[in-house]
Amino acid sequence: MGKLSGLSPEKVFEFFELLSSVPHGSGNTDAVCSICVEFAKERGLRVVRDGYKNVIIYKPASPGYENSPGVILQAHLDMVCAKSPDDPRDMKKVPVDLRTDGEWVWADGTSLGGDDISGVAIAMAVLDDDSLPHPAIEALFTSDEETGMDGAFGLDPSLISGRLLINLDSEEEGVITAGCSGGIGVSTVFDVERAPAEEGDVAFDFAVSGLRGGHSGGDIHLERANSNMTAARVLYAAVKRGIPLRLDTYEGGSFGNVITGKTVSRLTVPGKYADELRATVKDYSEILADEYAVSDPGITLTLEPAELPGAPVTAADTARMLGMLISLPYGVQHMSTDLPGLVETSLNLGVIKLKKEALRFSNSIRSCVPSRKHEVADRIEAIVAAFGGRTKRSDGYPEWKFRRESRLRELTAEAYRRVSGKEARVFATHGGLECGIFSSKLPGLDAVSIGPDLVDIHSTGEKMSVASVGRTYRMLCELLKMLR
Ligand SMILES: [Zn+2]
Repeated sequence: MGKLSGLSPEKVFEFFELLSSVPHGSGNTDAVCSICVEFAKERGLRVVRDGYKNVIIYKPASPGYENSPGVILQAHLDMVCAKSPDDPRDMKKVPVDLRTDGEWVWADGTSLGGDDISGVAIAMAVLDDDSLPHPAIEALFTSDEETGMDGAFGLDPSLISGRLLINLDSEEEGVITAGCSGGIGVSTVFDVERAPAEEGDVAFDFAVSGLRGGHSGGDIHLERANSNMTAARVLYAAVKRGIPLRLDTYEGGSFGNVITGKTVSRLTVPGKYADELRATVKDYSEILADEYAVSDPGITLTLEPAELPGAPVTAADTARMLGMLISLPYGVQHMSTDLPGLVETSLNLGVIKLKKEALRFSNSIRSCVPSRKHEVADRIEAIVAAFGGRTKRSDGYPEWKFRRESRLRELTAEAYRRVSGKEARVFATHGGLECGIFSSKLPGLDAVSIGPDLVDIHSTGEKMSVASVGRTYRMLCELLKMLR
């Protein structure tokens, strides 16, 4: 203990260090749950640890607040464990190595986990201080937010009686998040026929790479290329030029919520079409360099000779497959008319793979308007069906609908004004948040999401502003005092 001693607020950083003393990547939160349970027991607070590794700590109202509506303080216990590939540490076993220069807190060589241990530590500091005025508190610490929000999904709503929720999982001070998108997925299986390569065929490896990529919630409005879509576009152009292309592989992406940065494909053409294929790729290198000069200046197309595969997909099925891919909608579909600048509906094709008898891919659709996400799903399903493929729709996650009126949001803005002297910005995110799940489970919920400045979360560059943690803590204390 003591690496963060001297930082203020003392208790917040003491709890931050305590929580950070055990590994707590997603799927590995038993130890950090135990710390929270112990913390509650030591203070005589009622605590529940449920079967989804959520911990709920109950603290009664302070004097004068007995009749005030209860409040939920919510944060998640798991973190994204990021480290450089040559770092030998096993983050399942070794906790983060905290560092500070008094201004920032970070972890040596790995992500910090400030997302979202800062929120847990701030809530613990509130629970720890018997001198603070506040209504009854239910501190809800969830597990596995980062890998599908399993804790939030699993939560038994009867464990929670409050209908005012302060989520502490935002990354920018001065921003009050008050809505988020919901999502659904559509996964497609497209069966293909293969046949032996023919005499005189030549093979190439074609790749689209060098893209910026990004998060399909936070970056979809930036008009960046998705290599899964772009590669199909170039190859379809080759088909349109009369080249009897045959794909053997087509692969890009590992995560549905990432704008894919690289897609590779092995393909064959009869030898006499090789020059025409090279010319197509060259033409599109120029076209795409121009189209993406601002959003993706590094876009690169490569075509290199490769070993001839035994049985690529037939030319007819290749054309069908590429035709389907270029017909699919992609990117921003609608902008919000409630909150200018907010993406209302979008979709991303994060993962695609052509293997053996089928091409498989998945589209993840986001919208803050439920009917709109189903509209996009309908469109994908109709297109895929028209080309002869099969689809399956997943349940996804619910949206957190922006309330045109919210007392909690107004008081939160007032608390920020008092603490910082500045105006907060009200915002809704195109990402998914646990608040969406809670607002579907807890009818009538009024919620806000706040948090301190965190930079480069989910990466080895993650760092947390010490002063901002202080202001966020004081803002929360001020807000609780106002919730009389
Ligand atoms: Zn988070």
